[in-house]
Amino acid sequence: ATNYSFMTINIQPIGKIHTPYKEKFAIPRQPGLAKSAEGKIIFFEEFNDPNYLRGIEQFSHLWLLFHFHQTAEKGHSPLVRPPRLGGNQKLGVFATRSPFRPNGIGMSVVEFVAVSYQNKQLSLTVKGIDLLDATPILDIKPYVPYVDSLPLASGGMAQHSPELMAVTFTEQANRQLNQLEQRYPALASLIREVLSQDPRPAYHQDAHPSKTYGMTLFDLNIQWQVIKRQNIVLTIHSN
Ligand code: SAM
Repeated sequence: ATNYSFMTINIQPIGKIHTPYKEKFAIPRQPGLAKSAEGKIIFFEEFNDPNYLRGIEQFSHLWLLFHFHQTAEKGHSPLVRPPRLGGNQKLGVFATRSPFRPNGIGMSVVEFVAVSYQNKQLSLTVKGIDLLDATPILDIKPYVPYVDSLPLASGGMAQHSPELMAVTFTEQANRQLNQLEQRYPALASLIREVLSQDPRPAYHQDAHPSKTYGMTLFDLNIQWQVIKRQNIVLTIHSN
């Protein structure tokens, strides 16, 4: 009989996803929290055939299975500190959605947007992603509501979506947004959605009241401050 505990499985990514999130900091913790975040999956040569996606447009949502490639080499331990619990309580890794896990496999429900096959390159655009740019995609499956949606299920520490913070833009930031609108039509919504999740590490929340924070979306550096539990976007600059 095969000894499965010694079995290694080789997985070949089917493609990679291009997203506005160029660094881990400020990426929402789950899909759907920033609905404007669009990603485009580019299929690798062996899977670059529209037949692989035939019929997919009849589903409004899809499951993406992917590899947490950026943190993969950091390995894993049995216990993690979920940010949901303020970072000071430990849970078993299999009781969380932490990226630091055996095999580093992630799963996200995303919204289907479009399939394209231009210049003989197959791509699939999706929305509401929580994935870093260049994340390897391992598999795609349709989201099937009658099986995948369980309204009575208990969500433990993550029973409800996190409370949202208000986001406002300074005049300067609004001017910069206007200039960038043509190039990034959904930028204002994306910044709003991302900052309303309060990306600051839990231990910062009261410790550094007037600190200026920065994040990268696309090729833009966005700076903001938190004043009286409100995010104030200060500047939006091209890197
Ligand atoms: N929805 C997925 C799941 O439940 O498996 C991911 C949840 S995980 C908590 C989401 C976080 O993973 C993001 O906020 C980001 O910090 C991190 N992340 C996203 N893509 C990643 C990648 N390719 N490598 C490492 N970390 C990544």
